Amino acid sequence: MPPVVDARRSALSIAQRQFDAAADALGLEDSVRKVLREVKRELVVHFPVEMDDGSFRLFTGFRVQHNIARGPAKGGLRFHPGLTLDDVRALAMYMTWKTAVVGLPFGGAKGGVVCEPRSLSDNELERLTRRFTTEISLIVGPDRDIPAPDLGTDAHVMAWIMDTLSMHAGFSVPASVTGKPTSIGGSEGRYTAPGRGLALVTLQAMRDRGIDPSGATVAIQGFGKVGSVSAQVLAESGMTIVAVSDSRGGVHRSGGLDVESLIALRDEGGRVSEYGGGDRVTNEELLELDVDVLVPAATEAQINAHNAPAVRARVIAEGANAPLDPDADAILNDRGALILPDILANAGGVVVSYLEWVQDQQAYFWAAGEVNARLREVMVRSYQQVAARASERGLPLRAAAMELAVDTVAQATAVRGIYP
Ligand code: NAD
Repeated sequence: MPPVVDARRSALSIAQRQFDAAADALGLEDSVRKVLREVKRELVVHFPVEMDDGSFRLFTGFRVQHNIARGPAKGGLRFHPGLTLDDVRALAMYMTWKTAVVGLPFGGAKGGVVCEPRSLSDNELERLTRRFTTEISLIVGPDRDIPAPDLGTDAHVMAWIMDTLSMHAGFSVPASVTGKPTSIGGSEGRYTAPGRGLALVTLQAMRDRGIDPSGATVAIQGFGKVGSVSAQVLAESGMTIVAVSDSRGGVHRSGGLDVESLIALRDEGGRVSEYGGGDRVTNEELLELDVDVLVPAATEAQINAHNAPAVRARVIAEGANAPLDPDADAILNDRGALILPDILANAGGVVVSYLEWVQDQQAYFWAAGEVNARLREVMVRSYQQVAARASERGLPLRAAAMELAVDTVAQATAVRGIYP
């Protein structure tokens, strides 16, 4: 059974409060507000998987679509032992705002399975993925809802999903999922897109604020797909990565860490805290380091009322979804930190997922340079639109991004009208 949700800490209620603030500021009509405040469609599935020892285990999975007024639903699949339906609803809502803020013709969705993927063998993971895909095939597909990787899932999982949906159809349906290997219709630059997009927005925002990126210090929590690529691109831009961590803790070196060695260590199955070229730090200590830029790129609510007063970074670039809870957001805004909100800062992944879907539909593929140039154009333009609204209205970037996104989705919802 999935864990019971504590109503006071419900991720959905936090997402709804953020939506309410944007809806109030926009003076949103009541009918549209009621629609956008809830998710449109949710599927909960319980399904058996045969384990390698011949026993069967029952797993629970979810696929939730928040809004599809502007196009097919889009969002990742998370394999995580603590996943709840409440989390998935909130993350689906964030996806609607994320696709809107960067101007993609998609709605928002999220899904996943309550499981610890690292405790499953490759064969068990494949059987789980294929059976879960079959269960959610009722509502997913290239014109309806297109999954992608998230925490605990990767390109290989996406390949199994694409193959399962293609077997059902009787022909290859590459546009049914994004984040696939390039050999089956994946896009160049998809793996690096969330980290690259985050770095592009961070660099642009720092230049706007008159902060010289060259030599600026960075601490990164989470050294997965988002955190490690952000580290690479920020280091290539002249910044000094002084600390990184994974779920077991991190490493700190004030003179700078060698990002490529850390990636090699991780890829060999090591933990970044085992890296010899620096001092060990806990995840709590990493968040409180005196750095120019902090990139929380692990999970939700890592910064909260308890630790926010100790966070010293000037710029906080949200790699994870909702890594700051609303109390932390208020505390850090009050002390003048520049917070680059998740729906903008980590949107690079969904931007290149969109480019992958477009390439699959047209069966014509672009080189990495073309994909990265399009990503840059979308990220910089979206940042500038959000920054312009923030300065016109005297708002933090998160409020400005939410208002732009909610306004876009509300207009699409209103102009289509309420059926029948
Ligand atoms: P990943 O599974 O590749 O990596 C996650 C990393 O975070 C790992 O290093 C893991 O050890 C670490 N971690 C997990 N829990 C932690 C904790 N409590 N403290 C410190 N480290 C912890 O996942 P990812 O794709 O890099 O995603 C990271 C975050 O970014 C998630 O919140 C995800 O929703 C978000 N995100 C991912 C994408 C994408 O396309 N991959 C896009 C946008 C946002």
